[in-house]
Amino acid sequence: PTAMREVFLETPKVRWSDIGGQHDIKKRLQQAVERPLKHPQRMHRLNVKSKKGVLLYGPPGCSKTLTVKALATEAGLNFLAVKGAEILSMYVGESERSLREIFRKARAARPSIIFFDEIDAIAGRRSNNSQGGVNVLTTLLNEMDGIEELRNVLVIAATNKPDVLDPALMRPGRLDNILYIGPPDFEARKEILRIWASKSVLHKEVDLEVLAARTEGYSGAEMVSICETAGDAALDEEEETQQEQEVCLRHFEYALGQVRRQITDA
Ligand code: ATP
Repeated sequence: PTAMREVFLETPKVRWSDIGGQHDIKKRLQQAVERPLKHPQRMHRLNVKSKKGVLLYGPPGCSKTLTVKALATEAGLNFLAVKGAEILSMYVGESERSLREIFRKARAARPSIIFFDEIDAIAGRRSNNSQGGVNVLTTLLNEMDGIEELRNVLVIAATNKPDVLDPALMRPGRLDNILYIGPPDFEARKEILRIWASKSVLHKEVDLEVLAARTEGYSGAEMVSICETAGDAALDEEEETQQEQEVCLRHFEYALGQVRRQITDA
């Protein structure tokens, strides 16, 4: 491979209403972004600096990425998404160059969000890191510290493994707004089911409350997978019977047997 894949500005289309639950997280992120844009004078008066960085951590498939995309859409921010491992490169110095380039693009496109998914790939503890890894981390810290210029650029990072991150990353002024995004609770699962159901055709026998109660411990991604598996089963039946089907309880029963809980059955 030659140069790394170029990172482009994206325009996500995810809305808050596409995400079940996580109301507290949505509110906190909205505040972090909207306050400095809408009320800079209030912040100045109380001597509160705007946040530069947010760290989202929690198990896979629980809406970290979805949430950052919705934040960008709803707040009208440009969005640059980078996966940690994509930054790492075989060539000496190239990872650092691409990292600086990402920040440059984000500044040019502000107000904007840089989203580092799987940040652990580039920001592991320096003591456990190869020389190349340390250089990438140092570049990241330097870019985040370039304070004034970072105004209206929010850095959001996500990880499933917060314990491996270098503590320097979470110092005040860096990724110091640390938020846990956990598996969906009962209400959140009900909302995820409702969101899916609103775009499908469910038989009236299907009780979303009951389904939500029976899916404790499933991630958001697994909840969606249950819905799609049930939808698939209904489609299969439609083909067999040559008759239009609704998604019925038996389809959900089948789906519950198919989709395994992977984040909580450790
Ligand atoms: P990873 O750590 O694997 O990157 P993540 O926490 O970033 O996971 P997302 O990519 O946001 O997870 O979620 C994966 C998919 O799961 C989403 O595209 C969506 O279909 C579904 N999903 C997860 N949580 C929710 C939720 N709360 N509401 C609606 N859909 C959800």
